[in-house]
Amino acid sequence: MKLGLCEKCGSPTDARYEIKNNCVYLVKFCRDCGRTSSLVTKDARKWRWKREIAEYQEPSDLSCSLDCKSCDHKQHTSPNTVAIDVTNLCNQKCPICLAYVDAMGFVYKPPMEYFEKIFEAFKKNDPKPNICFFGGEPTVHEDFLEIVRRAKSHGFQVQLFTNGLKLADMNYCKELCALGIQVNFGLDGTNPEIYKTLRGDNSLAVKKRAFDNVIKCGVNKLAVISTVATGVNDSNMGELMEFIHDYKDHVSVWAFVPLTPCWETSDIKLEPTTTECVENIFERILPDIEFVSTGMMKFDTLSRFFGKQTLGGSHPNCESATLVISDGEKYVPLSTYLNIPLSEALSRLRKLDKKLNKMAPKNSSSAWRRWFFDFFTVLQIALIFARTINLRKALAKPAFLNGIKALVDIIRGRKIDEVLSKRTCFKRLLTLITIPYEDSGGLENARLHDCPAVFAYEDVQTGAIRTAAFCSWQTIKDDVCREIQAHYSTLADEKKHVARIG
Ligand code: SF4
Ligand code: SF4
Repeated sequence: MKLGLCEKCGSPTDARYEIKNNCVYLVKFCRDCGRTSSLVTKDARKWRWKREIAEYQEPSDLSCSLDCKSCDHKQHTSPNTVAIDVTNLCNQKCPICLAYVDAMGFVYKPPMEYFEKIFEAFKKNDPKPNICFFGGEPTVHEDFLEIVRRAKSHGFQVQLFTNGLKLADMNYCKELCALGIQVNFGLDGTNPEIYKTLRGDNSLAVKKRAFDNVIKCGVNKLAVISTVATGVNDSNMGELMEFIHDYKDHVSVWAFVPLTPCWETSDIKLEPTTTECVENIFERILPDIEFVSTGMMKFDTLSRFFGKQTLGGSHPNCESATLVISDGEKYVPLSTYLNIPLSEALSRLRKLDKKLNKMAPKNSSSAWRRWFFDFFTVLQIALIFARTINLRKALAKPAFLNGIKALVDIIRGRKIDEVLSKRTCFKRLLTLITIPYEDSGGLENARLHDCPAVFAYEDVQTGAIRTAAFCSWQTIKDDVCREIQAHYSTLADEKKHVARIG
């Protein structure tokens, strides 16, 4: 059984997918408001293929109610990513935005103690989740540097999602980058017109200056985040890719947020853009490119060898990703170096993972048995890699020697990404990833239930730290933030009063 949110009243209600003219719609049947429907994708074939290749089965139970205000997502799934809204203040006024003061109707800017409570709640998690700061514009919060410092002091990996404008101030940029933060920098194209439409301003020149500042500060974990809107910047993605290639030593991730129809004013006439629209744009630029859902990259036993996934959506119709590799002049798709499609290679690894899960020795097993299991696993991975990768093209010269060394590295337990960067031509890799931040109309229980990315907040009535799935945060965000703001404003007033009479 499927649940969605009614487009009119927002209540959880019965839903089902319907396919018409190669488009998929989530159709909701609300008892009070009747039938409403939301576009999910304009490429039903690809949407269905992702489910088939992941051998996805719709869950039969209804353990997600879509009523996130009375639920705590982390009780269902331990998060690998904890997002926090720092403020809704912003130094831009994008017409497409629902997350800044004008759109929300009140100022949201909690004090340091609020963030401390959230860090405390997650610092004992093993593994520790990444902390991602969102807004508004997080850097506009006057305590933002201190908030980052505190998060780092608890041992979290920290990411900032920023429009970048504040980083045009070199002193601020230096101070921020020195904290060892991953910067996710908003850049929607190389043409000023794009910013006029999407951001309502002419911010490209300032952004470029800020981008250069971040590079000068030696940040090596730089991600570019582009909002993609069909008819606005789709035709500019090739040029933006060339721009990013100029910074190939610094930028490791290029993420896309397809522009879902979440704006409210009727004077904005933009076409909805979905994950598959973004994938199709890149298939036109690099015909052999292949995006696969990041849910395909989730392994149990093999995860020890592949390093930690960060966002890693769990559902086949959530995030999708691929790799492009610099040949020195330009990016080429990973398929240039593969004998089989990427999706097939991942399917083989998933089958191996399932097989290994059944065979895995228990903790109480003898050291010899565990050693044999590890050796067997490494051999199986090496076999799949040897059949998947065109070794003659992919291995760094001298190829034979590097092939042997790569094998030794894997046996010695080095992470696969380290081995690839050391022993192969895959040195300047760029991960392309679509992050479909769903509008409330497209939300459904099965997709959200296992999502490992959450927004965290304090329930100010009880003091408990609660979470909502990343995409469903927007369904409760305005109410929650209003309560948090009122709570801390009252506390601040009381403190002032006590100080006055004291
Ligand atoms: S999406 Fe997560 S938080 Fe919301 S109701 Fe479902 S399980 Fe609970
Ligand atoms: S920069 Fe981001 S938060 Fe600020 S107005 Fe634009 S979309 Fe909203």
